[in-house]
Amino acid sequence: MSDIFNNELFEAFASASDNVYIYVCDMAVDVSRWSKNAISYFGLDGEYIKNAADVWASHVHPDDIEIYTTDITAVFSGKKRTHNCQYRARNSLGEYVWLECKGSVIWNADGTPKIFAGLMTRIDGQSKYDSLTGLLTSQNLYNVDFSSPPGIALLIGLDSFRKVVSNYGYNAGDEILVEFSKRAKALCRPGWQILRFSGDELLVLAFAAERQEAMDFYGRLGQEIDVIELKDGRKVGVSASAGGVSFPGDADSREVLINKLEHSLEYAKNTDRGTLVFFSEEIARKHERGQALREDLKSCIKNGFRGFELFFQPFVNPASQEIVGCECLLRWKGERIVDSYPMEFIKVLEDYGGIREVGFWVMEQAIRQQVEWRARYGNLWVSFNVSYQQFLDEGFEGRLVSYAEKYGVDPSYMIIELTESCVVDNPKELSAIFDRLRARGFKLALDDFGTAYASMEMLKCLHVDYIKVEHSFVRELSEPGHDIDYVIVDNLLEMCRHLGCSSIVEGVENSAVADIVGEMDATMLQGYYYSRPVCRSDFERLLDNDREKRGKAQS
Ligand code: C2E
Ligand code: MG
Ligand code: MG
Repeated sequence: MSDIFNNELFEAFASASDNVYIYVCDMAVDVSRWSKNAISYFGLDGEYIKNAADVWASHVHPDDIEIYTTDITAVFSGKKRTHNCQYRARNSLGEYVWLECKGSVIWNADGTPKIFAGLMTRIDGQSKYDSLTGLLTSQNLYNVDFSSPPGIALLIGLDSFRKVVSNYGYNAGDEILVEFSKRAKALCRPGWQILRFSGDELLVLAFAAERQEAMDFYGRLGQEIDVIELKDGRKVGVSASAGGVSFPGDADSREVLINKLEHSLEYAKNTDRGTLVFFSEEIARKHERGQALREDLKSCIKNGFRGFELFFQPFVNPASQEIVGCECLLRWKGERIVDSYPMEFIKVLEDYGGIREVGFWVMEQAIRQQVEWRARYGNLWVSFNVSYQQFLDEGFEGRLVSYAEKYGVDPSYMIIELTESCVVDNPKELSAIFDRLRARGFKLALDDFGTAYASMEMLKCLHVDYIKVEHSFVRELSEPGHDIDYVIVDNLLEMCRHLGCSSIVEGVENSAVADIVGEMDATMLQGYYYSRPVCRSDFERLLDNDREKRGKAQS
């Protein structure tokens, strides 16, 4: 008998708990010793088991066997340090119970496994109900039979929940989740099931229901949660988006159902927040394209940012019509996908975090370019775009300062534009970052001002040097029926003057609009009328022409 087993500690640990089972395996002979409670509870043949991996696998639920074997194989091949997974195993009564299984290997000096030891905790009782909302947990999905009766599954997620939590506090977030769950549960028909799927997402299984019933349920839920009153009397406006899938029609297995629900909810949140979207081929295609974009982007980044390029669009002085700067705009052609626009691929980069590296690349190119052009053309204002997520990155300021030093740029000619592609849930933190960057001499701009509902709110808490007036107010200024655009642009520029900010008016597409905004006292103008965004050599040609014209005018 191996020494490994003759250990009083094993006895002590083995009898320490009713719902924790322990085992230790002598890998040289592939014999393991199991705690007595494991033998009785799972109906094992005896305390010592030869080839326990196979014996134990016969207890694992057929639907979970892959999870179990994948994890254990990864541990023994050295890919994973510890065995850690949850699955169901059959007990002596023939019932399946949930186990959390953790274990680790001690290796011999020659790299062969010496001991494998671990513990299995029964988590059935603990994980059936969610402790906050009292709803069933997603673990229960394993017990659902999706084949009959057919129905509709809805995955419902609260919109901008992170922002709600950051505005109202963590406890308020919990209160909202409880109310959301309570009200959703109250609206469920008899026979339906509702589970807390994850964080702020609920899963409703509307058995024997048609689409219309599911839509009515979602509509009523929207009204119910429209305003939630907290215990302290504060009222919070809440909305939810949802994805819907019919089963078994659209999904004949649990995995497919969950995948399709998640894709549909993601689609709803991205394209039509606050609505219910049923799974469709378009969603599947969108999802596939998203995956392909992500892979292609990753591969290009790994290959030294292959396919990425900066384009430049001039800023023009309204009085002299001279090019005084430019905005750097990112372009990308992938190895497989060659037709993606910034709005699409930047969103993908932001979603998976690739924007960090690409953003640093853009930052370096923009700074380097400013310095290179300064030598040839005199100082130009060069702006580049940075999303909220990038600003919050701990490495952002450090990189900016190090590139500025490396290339010797004058920071007062670098304009950093905050794009409004995501919700700013911590304006105070952002404001501190802005102030530090401004103290170092960089110029800060609010991009696309006026479009996002939070523009004014942002202006209240952020000190900026530039406001960029969004092109949708500008493009059609010269056309009849656009008086309101005129009033908006004129007043935004007036506001800039009062705040002591400079302004850049985007979307100047023709000479008529150029004439109108030219009268208005903007600091700089930008738009297709002057030039579309162009590659570096074309932009340099524009600068050469511009400087030549100016030279002639002066002589
Ligand atoms: P943005 O920063 O507001 O850039 C201006 C967008 O308006 C550009 O689109 C530009 O091509 C377009 N535009 C310029 N003049 C006109 C005009 O006269 N009429 C109209 N209709 N459009 C005009 P683009 O290049 O497709 O970029 C889209 C957005 O992608 C940018 O909007 C910016 O938010 C984002 N973006 C671009 N480069 C970067 C980057 O390096 N980093 C980050 N985070 N975002 C970027
Ligand atoms: Mg911009
Ligand atoms: Mg813009």
